[in-house]
Amino acid sequence: MGQILSILMAVMAFLVIYTVGVKMMASFSRSPPPPPPDGELRKVRMTFQCQSCGTEVRMTKAPETNPDGPSCCMQEMELVHNSEE
Ligand SMILES: [Zn+2]
Repeated sequence: MGQILSILMAVMAFLVIYTVGVKMMASFSRSPPPPPPDGELRKVRMTFQCQSCGTEVRMTKAPETNPDGPSCCMQEMELVHNSEE
């Protein structure tokens, strides 16, 4: 009886390790989607500023004309200037 129990335990342990391993492999192989081709990007001229540290970032290309701002200091940067060319 004890032998069957230890075999069951071994099978359970194997299944757990196998499942975790497969999940880890899946998360490793999952890569972000590739950016759209250059022709599909809109030319923008937007300036974002971080309200916490004052960093300013200029966005020159975006997949849409009104994209979300980049993040800095764990928050979204604020749009301070937007002039479309
Ligand atoms: Zn910041």
